[in-house]
Amino acid sequence: AVENQAEAPKTTSSKSKETLKGSSEKREFQAETRMLLDIVARSLYSDKEVFIRELISNASDALEKFRYLNVSSAPDASKLLETDRPLEIRLSTDKQNRTLTFQDSGIGMTKDELTQNLGTIARSGSKSFIEEIKKQGKDQANSIIGQFGVGFYSAFMVADRIEVYTRSSVEGSQGYKWHSDGSGVYEIQEADGVAIGTKIVVHLKTECREYADDEIVKNIIKKYSNFVSSPIFLNDEQV
Ligand code: ADP
Ligand code: MG
Repeated sequence: AVENQAEAPKTTSSKSKETLKGSSEKREFQAETRMLLDIVARSLYSDKEVFIRELISNASDALEKFRYLNVSSAPDASKLLETDRPLEIRLSTDKQNRTLTFQDSGIGMTKDELTQNLGTIARSGSKSFIEEIKKQGKDQANSIIGQFGVGFYSAFMVADRIEVYTRSSVEGSQGYKWHSDGSGVYEIQEADGVAIGTKIVVHLKTECREYADDEIVKNIIKKYSNFVSSPIFLNDEQV
């Protein structure tokens, strides 16, 4: 079947085309984030598939935040965009390009939120991880990753590059592209054509190419998705 994007505006498509504008801004990760990324990227932690659980759970949180704000009396609630869009999570695999993409139509991020949330480790799990590493040493990294989890950053166990496209649900928002190879710096640039919510493109390391295989990914989603209340699609089929 031929998909006509123009006639299906209510579907959050993972195939939408973003166009970059302005110039790209290079920033450094906060020192502790750098340390965490360095450990995560080199780790021989065997249970790497948990990054899928982490990114789905972030997508699910983003959808819940949108639902909550949408029914709240917070000042921003009256300024929400496209409130009738389907609230869902879409994954797609691309073997040729060796990518796994996660798209949600949730709350999205502003530029400040993007730098704050993906550039620092304010969250408790990653903080505890770093504290334990400082206490127990880097050679304990594997067991500590398993114990505390590293959220979004866990994707750097399998990725040599990650792109995040995001646009906040709040009126007047601009879209952004964030990308990093996990080695100390990330870049942010304005982008047009970004769907409301967040799309994360995980460019897989050669040795992790299995996560671009749709049967493998489907089984992992099934394993972890019982706690997710939003519908999850894999390559346009509901899982
Ligand atoms: P946690 O989920 O425990 O807060 P993570 O490292 O998984 O920690 O994510 C860090 C932060 O990045 C989240 O708290 C959230 O603010 C932001 N974030 C990550 N993924 C998304 C997403 N898909 N949509 C909106 N915000 C996100
Ligand atoms: Mg998380």
